[in-house]
This record gives sequence, C-alpha cells and structure tokens, in this order.
Amino acid sequence: MAGCIVARALSRVPGIEVICLEQVEASDHSESGTGLNVGPNAVKALLRHDPQLHDAVQARSLPWKSWRISLTDGTELFNLPLMQVADNLGIRIRWSELYAALRGEARGLIRYGARVSSVAYMAGDPARLAVDYVRDGVAYHVEDVDLLVAGDGRYSLTRERLAGTPVMRQHGVVIYRLLVPDTAGGLIDDYEQWFNGPNRLLAFRVPGEAIYIAGTFPIPPGAEVPQAAKNADHLRTLYTPSGGMPSAQCAWLIDQVCGNVASIHWARLQESPPLYSDERGHVLYLGDAAHGMVPTLGQGATQAIEDACVAADLLVRHCAGGGASGADMPAVLQEFVRLRQERVRFVMDFSREASDTLEAGADPVAGARKKLEAPFQQKLARLYRDVTRV
Ligand SMILES: Cc1cc2nc3c(=O)[nH]c(=O)nc-3n(C[C@H](O)[C@H](O)[C@H](O)COP(=O)(O)OP(=O)(O)OC[C@H]3O[C@@H](n4cnc5c(N)ncnc54)[C@H](O)[C@@H]3O)c2cc1C
Repeated sequence: MAGCIVARALSRVPGIEVICLEQVEASDHSESGTGLNVGPNAVKALLRHDPQLHDAVQARSLPWKSWRISLTDGTELFNLPLMQVADNLGIRIRWSELYAALRGEARGLIRYGARVSSVAYMAGDPARLAVDYVRDGVAYHVEDVDLLVAGDGRYSLTRERLAGTPVMRQHGVVIYRLLVPDTAGGLIDDYEQWFNGPNRLLAFRVPGEAIYIAGTFPIPPGAEVPQAAKNADHLRTLYTPSGGMPSAQCAWLIDQVCGNVASIHWARLQESPPLYSDERGHVLYLGDAAHGMVPTLGQGATQAIEDACVAADLLVRHCAGGGASGADMPAVLQEFVRLRQERVRFVMDFSREASDTLEAGADPVAGARKKLEAPFQQKLARLYRDVTRV
C-alpha cells in the first residue's frame, strides 16, 4: 500500500528513476480475502496528497460512518457517529480492492513477480545501495540506489537485512478474520463490535455483497494460537452469552464463523518497535515495515497511507529540480522522522490502550463506559483529525 503511493508520486518528478519491486503477480490476491476499515485520518491524508488516488479508493469502498459496541446478547453500550470526532468519514473496503485501486493508479511502474533477495550498501560508496531481485527465475542486480524505500510489510526483508529482525511484542490476544457472502438480510451494515467478556466479534459490510468478520479472544501472552481453539464448538462457546441467547446479529455472525472455520485467517495481536530510517540516511521504512501495530483501532493500513503521503510530499519537494541525487537524502529522512515519530508513537500507544477490553479478565461494560468519556473521545478526535502536514 505505502509503496504504490510513493512510487506513483516520485514517478512524476523529472530526473528520478523509480524502480518498484513487488513479489506477487499483478493478479495475485493471496491473503487478501478480507476487509479493512480505513480511518478518516488516512482518507484526509490521501485527499490532501493526491485527489485522484483518493477518488479511486473511494470508488471501491463504502463510507464508515459510525462505531457501535454491544454485548453479544444485544445490549448496546456505545454508539458513536464518526463525524463527532472526525472532519470526514472513514471507509470500508475489501483488502483486494484497496490493493487494486492503489496498484491501478501506479500501473506501468510496478515490476510484479520481482522478489527482492538482498539489499546492502555498495562497497566503496557509503551513500548508495545495491538491490538484488529475482523475476521469472532470472536474477537482477541494481546499483547506485540513492534511496531505498522499504514498504515491504510486517516481515520486511530490508529491515531484517539492514537492521536485524525486530523483536515482536505479543499481547496475548488471538485475532482472526474472514469474508463471507452477505446473507444477513440487512442485519449487518456499518462498523460494529460485540463482546462476551473479553471475547469480541467485529463486523461490517463491504462492497460486493460481502460481510467482513473479525473475532478475538485472549490466550497466554507469547503462546501460539492453540489448535483446539480453531474449532467451531469452541468458537461458538466464546461468543454465546451466559443466558444462551445471542442477539439476531450475533446468532448470524456466530453461525458464519463456525461454518467457515477452514477459511479463517489466524493471527495474534503483536507490535514491533518503530524504525524509520537507517543511520546513513538512505533507507526509509514505511508502514508495517516501520511500525507493526496492534490492529484494535484499524490503524495499520491507515498509518501506512499517512506515512506514504508524508514521505511522497517530502521527497517530491526535495527532489524537484535536482532529482534524487541532488537531494540531501539524510536531511530529508531526518525531516520525515521529525514529522512522523511522535504521531506514530501516539497512534501505537492509543491502539494498545484501546486493546484493554480484549485481554483476559476484561470487563467490556466498564471498557465501553470509558470510551464514552472525554479523554478517550479527545484522543479519537486527535487520531482522526491531526493528520501530519508537510
Ligand atoms: C486480515 C487483515 C486485516 C486487516 N485489517 C485492517 C484494517 O481494518 N484497517 C487497517 O488500517 N489495517 C488493517 N490491517 C493491516 C494492514 O493490512 C497493514 O497494516 C497494511 O497492509 C500495511 O501496508 P504496507 O504498505 O506497510 O505493507 P503491505 O500492504 O503488507 O505491502 C507490502 C508489500 O511488499 C511485498 N513484499 C514483501 N516482501 C517482498 C520482497 N522481498 N520482495 C518484493 N516484494 C515484497 C508484499 O508482497 C506486499 O505487497 C489488516 C491486516 C490483515 C492481515
């Protein structure tokens, strides 16, 4: 996501040669059979940075207007119209459609099926890098790279090679996701969450007659997702309220989860320490490569987009005229860190704080009450409104 946005912006600057490498094929949508809610802050950043790109993404999405929290028996705890805390709405979109929109607007620039196998500074030149990649079984070697933008995701090879594998912090919560056909008859539409103790369901409708469902439940921190938990009976028990009667919405969701266990995408809540640049100032990390964060507030892709818009605007400004070789790259990257560091720290901390209701022993009623209070709502307003400006 971040890579497409930066590649598109830089390709328009005279004097810059952009090489954008993507390991999957253009038609590949593996791991993308799910949905995303992208925060109002990313929508705002994208509109400011590139209205055409913003429109392409909007055209494939539904508006995210409200956030409702209930218990799985149907008791409502919290119902927030997003415009109370944002200047514009967020979006709901299929993951594959977000990729398609961003990649479509960077068409012709991306070398698909090109897997980066090594990155290193060139011997004898402390300011330029060399990149090796393999495409169609052929090995390629690129030299004299002034800036390496690492938008290669949570398991970034670039970060591993140049800075070491980041130590992931585990939060003791399983998160699983799936996308199912919308047979809910109007029961599910905008973004909602339902709790039974700390066990949570989340769902919303996305374009293409589909419903995105995400579920969470606690496990011991650091433990793998237990095999025994990937089981319909276990999942049904997690979300069935003590009285035995889930609301109509939750009854439908529980049936969908239990009937589609084989297509579930399993993960755990984890985060990596942020890193934006290397010491020499010629490698820029963006999105998940820079800061894997817990997904509780839907800020992973949202922050990848914010990062990319800031990086693109800065690079375009500094490279206009002299191209990439003419720019003082270490100074540009320092400016990026100055602009983004505190904002990303706030978003990561807030996302972690908002995960308290997902942890073992959590009380969802007390947790939702806290979300109604001014300190939480003020932080949400800061999250959704205070987008980094270059
Ligand atoms: C199931 C699921 C649901 C999610 N829901 C939300 C949500 O609701 N809201 C939200 O904001 N975020 C959500 N996220 C998080 C979000 O998807 C990520 O934060 C976001 O994709 C990060 O964007 P990125 O550009 O940093 O990396 P990515 O989108 O991961 O892109 C990295 C790219 O690099 C390529 N790549 C990796 N290694 C190499 C290599 N060696 N050579 C060449 N190419 C390589 C990959 O193929 C990939 O295309 C979700 C994530 C998952 C898994």
